[in-house]
Amino acid sequence: MASIAFKRVSKAFDKHEVIKDLDLTIEDGKFTVLVGPSGCGKTTLLRMIAGLDPQTSGSVLIGGKDVSRIAPGKRGVAMVFQNYAIYPTMSVRENIEFGLVNNKVRKAEREELVEGISKAVGLYEYLERKPSTLSGGQRQRVALARAMVKKPSVFLMDEPLSNLDAKLRVQMRIELIELHKKLGATFVYVTHDQVEAMSMADTIVLMNKGVIQQEAPPDEMYRRPSNRFTAQFIGTPPMNVGELGESGSLFGFRPESAVLSEAQGDEPFSVRGVIATREMLGSETIYQVRSGSGNYMVKCSEDLFAAGQEVYVGVPAAKLHFFGEDERRIDE
Ligand code: ATP
Repeated sequence: MASIAFKRVSKAFDKHEVIKDLDLTIEDGKFTVLVGPSGCGKTTLLRMIAGLDPQTSGSVLIGGKDVSRIAPGKRGVAMVFQNYAIYPTMSVRENIEFGLVNNKVRKAEREELVEGISKAVGLYEYLERKPSTLSGGQRQRVALARAMVKKPSVFLMDEPLSNLDAKLRVQMRIELIELHKKLGATFVYVTHDQVEAMSMADTIVLMNKGVIQQEAPPDEMYRRPSNRFTAQFIGTPPMNVGELGESGSLFGFRPESAVLSEAQGDEPFSVRGVIATREMLGSETIYQVRSGSGNYMVKCSEDLFAAGQEVYVGVPAAKLHFFGEDERRIDE
């Protein structure tokens, strides 16, 4: 069992509190992604699980056991960082088995483990090569393999793909999802990239300023954001949010939920405006519509309108979201 639980955890650096009275349970065997803007406390949470930063108050449990007094190396967790350190003078094989040699694992057993893991991450043919002769993605796999060899029940990953180019990042995301399925271990993955979170997670934990904003599977986070922050963090471009009269309450709709037309339709939300900007992205076009009540982003699968054109922005009732004065979701 390798569920992880935070119970009323706070963390302060000097007097600055960066995690505030946080409760969270990360399920055993799930791929959980911690996401949020820079400085919201994601890395700090990960380091508390690993035992690299002790919490100021509250407790951290792994597999139901309070690990506050357990040293980092004894927690059964492995961490893969953004700037993964692989040893340039060692071969891929030596890099992977490094921890095993240190732990005095016998040679035959080491060889069997390295062979199995290098096959799992697609490095078997590269075992005798030096890291300098590998691509960025392959080096990232060496770092993963080195973590895997210790057979941890929890993998902690802090922006492990951020040094890779966009194409490789997409490929590595798929590889990590497959690896997670194969290993059945608990994965906790930190990123500030909501697309990465949406595409990989079983559960997304969205944070802001040391406080969890929402914890949900990706589709629920997208369909039913629990507050304005979540609504505007998940999705590109972000959800349009406007005020309902003088009430202080808010309405919102996603750019892809709106319809543009030359004539007014019968949608409950319908405003007239002018196309201020048009951004053609290939399979879709993003328009910014300027209206008397504000500017709205609209994402269309067809490119039918030009800048300067008058249009109606219409949103069907089922696609409208409502938020109260406190910015929390109001349910229909
Ligand atoms: P990023 O996406 O930029 O990596 P993050 O969400 O991972 O951000 P953390 O690294 O957890 O954020 O940092 C949270 C807050 O704690 C930040 O305000 C940061 O400046 C502060 N902080 C982190 N580590 C320390 C430290 N060792 N000493 C003092 N302050 C720290």
